[in-house]
Amino acid sequence: MTQPKREPFTGELTHDPRVLLGPGPSNLHPRVTRAMTAPILGYLDPDFLAIMDDVMVLLRHLFQTDNEMCITLPGTGMAGMEAAVCNVVEPGDEVVVGIHGFFGQRLAEIVERHGGTAIRVEVDFGQVVGTNRIEAALDAHPAAKMVAVVHGETSSGVGQPLEEIGRLVRERDKLFLVDTVCSLGGAHVPVDETLIDICYGAGQKCVGGPAGIACITLNDRSMTVIGARSRPVDTWYLDLTLIRKYWLSERAYHHTTPGPLVYALHAALRMIQEEGLEPRIARHQKCGDLLKAGLTGLGLELFGDPVNRLPMLTCVMIPDGVDDATVRSRLLQDYGIEIAGGFGPLKGKAWRIGLMGFSCSERNVHYLINALREILAD
Ligand SMILES: *Cc1c(COP(=O)(O)O)cnc(C)c1O
Repeated sequence: MTQPKREPFTGELTHDPRVLLGPGPSNLHPRVTRAMTAPILGYLDPDFLAIMDDVMVLLRHLFQTDNEMCITLPGTGMAGMEAAVCNVVEPGDEVVVGIHGFFGQRLAEIVERHGGTAIRVEVDFGQVVGTNRIEAALDAHPAAKMVAVVHGETSSGVGQPLEEIGRLVRERDKLFLVDTVCSLGGAHVPVDETLIDICYGAGQKCVGGPAGIACITLNDRSMTVIGARSRPVDTWYLDLTLIRKYWLSERAYHHTTPGPLVYALHAALRMIQEEGLEPRIARHQKCGDLLKAGLTGLGLELFGDPVNRLPMLTCVMIPDGVDDATVRSRLLQDYGIEIAGGFGPLKGKAWRIGLMGFSCSERNVHYLINALREILAD
């Protein structure tokens, strides 16, 4: 389809703000937005290096880790996923991937794009992967190098328990990789305690920052495995041994760090520290519970394993006779609220409602529930 010809915008963009209650991006606190307008610094300016050092300290707090390697990457959450996989996987390596939704599928696909073999341990949408299934996969593939899972599966609204798998993977002396793009900043991600070796997140979900910046942490075990590769990482841009030199040792140029995104992430991380991890996680839990109660109060049915439903992403079934697109466009046009449609088997059948970072407030829950009540009554 060709685009209709039109004149470009002139002057500033004038769209109204939205209430972002989808799977990300989430709304930014004004302080985070303001941080992006701080003066630009060169990527080796001592003031910039000091901000980077601060970001590393704040990320260690967020990931609950002592890992030295706790840095940002240019790019969205997918840059974190790609980096986490491609730095470890060499052609022929086997990786056990626990799949409980769309992002697990992506992890497996990325393993294969880098020449690895993904051993898929897949469960139905809405369920979580049992440790026994991972154990059976490791028994059948004793040479596997790594086990990878998604913590918060944004496609199904279900959270994968990590502790047992972490212990199993460490017993078997494999690497444990966890995607926390959805959950980081809104749920506990105790990297060291859970025996996670490689973990990544992104700015724009519960962390409360902008899109375009990923965060990643790796422990010494995983950096040793990466250092022992028989050939260099097959992407130069996301090669963590090179990027490490910029963040931690020689401070040598690798790429131009996107300063305003780092400033904004820094502000978001400071706000996490000021709020406190516990109160912040409690806020996400409380608002998530309130939303679920409000939706069931409207007579709607929640999706997914009730024991493991995520606080920050709720998947709810669309009632019979209600048109998905009509409701979502009315929410957007009449109320300025964004929510998302269902994914994969839930396409057209469910909505996905996010309560992430600054978007996660009781006020937003009440606003959405009232808007839905009005729309569904028509
Ligand atoms: C959003 C998301 C990603 C991808 O992040 P982008 O910022 O969209 O690239 C990966 N994994 C999970 C679990 C996510 O929710």
